[in-house]
Amino acid sequence: MTPIIVLIGRTNVGKSTIFNCLTKSRNALVANHPGVTRDRQYGYCKSEDLNRKIILIDTAGLDIKSNEIEKKAYEQTLIAIQESHLILFIVDARDGLMPQEFEISKKIRQYEKKTILIINKIDGINNTFNINEFYSLGFNKIHKVSASHNQGINTLIIKYFIPW
Ligand code: GDP
Ligand code: MG
Repeated sequence: MTPIIVLIGRTNVGKSTIFNCLTKSRNALVANHPGVTRDRQYGYCKSEDLNRKIILIDTAGLDIKSNEIEKKAYEQTLIAIQESHLILFIVDARDGLMPQEFEISKKIRQYEKKTILIINKIDGINNTFNINEFYSLGFNKIHKVSASHNQGINTLIIKYFIPW
């Protein structure tokens, strides 16, 4: 069975950018304005260090469901979580901890899947205050990356995807 990893998090935290880094593709739409990824997007993780197949799923996130389209996107994300074996919960170091991230944490925990908290956008961040806030979400596996600078991506694969 091929392991499946799903990318979860608020809109605009960089899920699609991370997906593109891990799949070495540009398949996922990256945008400045929120809500570009509506459906689930699948790809294979590509790395010279990886000698087996891992499927990645990019999702719309778990924050928005004020209209029908957003509700559908939310449902698609829940399906993706069900399908997956490992969750990457992405947060944004620039924004710091946002209230809805407690809600997302709660939702994720219901599925009892192994979860890694990924703190993205650490480029240019020189105070650790924002980053330390994320520890209150209670995840013990935390990894920092800058997807747009391709930093921390390969160590993510080496540290978490290979031994797993
Ligand atoms: P998604 O909505 O979670 O899929 O987020 P996207 O991948 O579409 O990215 C949202 C915005 O954040 C885009 O403008 C990206 O270029 C930007 N972004 C993504 N990763 C990083 C990063 O590591 N550092 C910085 N500074 N910007 C990033
Ligand atoms: Mg996206």
